[in-house]
Amino acid sequence: MTEYANEDAQIRLFNSMTRKIETFKPISDDQTRIYSCGPTVYNYAHIGNLRAYVFTDTLRRLLNWKGQTVTHVINITDVGHLTSDEDSGEDKMELASQSMEKDIWQIAEHFTQAFKNDLSQLNLLRPTLWSTATDHIHDMIAFAKTLERSGATYILETGLYFDTTKVPDYGSLALTPREGQEEGARVDPIAGKRNATDFAIWRRSPAVGKRQMEWMSPWGPGAPGWHLECSVMSMKYLGSRFDIHTGGIDHREIHHCNEIAQNQAYTSHAHSGANWWMHNNFLIDRSGKMSKSKGEFSTLTSLIAKGIHPLAFRLMCLSTHYRSELEFSLETLAGQLVRLKRLVGAISMLGLEVESKPWMRIPNEIRFSSGASFTYPRTVLEQTLSPHGKKLLDGFDREMSEDLMTPRALPFLDETIHHDKLNAEEKLRIIASMDLVLGMNLLGTRRCDLALRPKDVSLSASEVEALLAQRQQARRAKDFANADAIRDRLHTAGVEIMDGPKPSWEWRPLLH
Ligand code: AMP
Ligand code: ZN
Repeated sequence: MTEYANEDAQIRLFNSMTRKIETFKPISDDQTRIYSCGPTVYNYAHIGNLRAYVFTDTLRRLLNWKGQTVTHVINITDVGHLTSDEDSGEDKMELASQSMEKDIWQIAEHFTQAFKNDLSQLNLLRPTLWSTATDHIHDMIAFAKTLERSGATYILETGLYFDTTKVPDYGSLALTPREGQEEGARVDPIAGKRNATDFAIWRRSPAVGKRQMEWMSPWGPGAPGWHLECSVMSMKYLGSRFDIHTGGIDHREIHHCNEIAQNQAYTSHAHSGANWWMHNNFLIDRSGKMSKSKGEFSTLTSLIAKGIHPLAFRLMCLSTHYRSELEFSLETLAGQLVRLKRLVGAISMLGLEVESKPWMRIPNEIRFSSGASFTYPRTVLEQTLSPHGKKLLDGFDREMSEDLMTPRALPFLDETIHHDKLNAEEKLRIIASMDLVLGMNLLGTRRCDLALRPKDVSLSASEVEALLAQRQQARRAKDFANADAIRDRLHTAGVEIMDGPKPSWEWRPLLH
């Protein structure tokens, strides 16, 4: 007898290393260890970055749902990430400090907090551990010394470099063997570099001028290379072999290849460090990949200012498979908001038919506690399911367990809501269980919570009420021209009027 509808179904996940979907097996039975490359905190996260963390959160929730305890580490990159993936650009943090005329540490603190705030607005679970690069400089120096002893490094004027010919299969994650990367593909070579793919482990400070962030090291004063921090922190907290390493697809070609090379040289072993390397695809807008360095990008705050609820963005992410490109537009997002309002509205109607039960609150409470296991609520939610209920959850599980096929799992929510053989209570229990994986807070959100007042709207709620009363009067007096003019004015100001036996209104997102 299994406890859950489909407890035995295994999770299959795409592994970028083999480019295949493989049955997931954690290193220890019911423990999964995940490392996710975190944000570089020189600016606000854009919604493309946030897509990366919605993906990781969904993965983590699925593992929890299937009975795994997850240890999840996300790093904060506050040093070392250069403007170019080569070693010749400038540190993004130093540049931001110059252009914003602020202390670099204040910049890091400000954008780290803003990032954490975005994650909580998206209902993402807090990682088990946040690890900040600058808190690990000594670990990085110790790691680099071991690399040096292994014979994989060489010293130049500009710092300590990793010789990528010293590991057997450099670049295998990118599926571009080292030889293929030599010719012309990479620009700005550093004088003296032995191979185009070699990279800085420690960047020595220029003789003139002082960096705000620099530390003494056996290779002179300077700062660590970006790739070093992820090898060091993942190994420190998760061990030299852990289960899953995640990041955006841009990391597959260079950053993660370099991490792997470091891991291999450090451990003197051919293993890459993580059993699964997983990458989300880009969120793009019409002008191409969204990127912080392009300057113009959308943040979660800018979407909220337009009246779009963060959970609509989460639903948009879930509606596309994480390995497909997601083309962003405000219109699509507004469509997802409508879809979410319908879902939440229908779920509230079901709630009216059911006496309040403790489990209705359980998912919310669990969501906001860090790293809690979902095993308890799932057992409660899925007690005594009917065969119809089990079938729905089985279907949902099957799609989610097939490399997080969220676009095919979501319709099971609608199917559950509209099923004619299930009572309201069973429907709600099934939805609550699915939502442990989807993280949409479906039972804790009311339709009215989703309608946010756009920031630039000049009208207050009481002015809207007054205009609506005028419109009612005009309609009663059959002055339709005036009634329509008021309706148009309200529409332009971001108000949606729902005519009907009991007319109502709500804020509507502004799509420009
Ligand atoms: P960064 O702050 O640039 O270091 O990026 C943080 C995370 O966002 C990394 O995992 C990146 O690979 C990922 N990322 C960057 N741009 C995008 C994008 N347009 N779409 C999806 N993920 C992205
Ligand atoms: Zn990383």
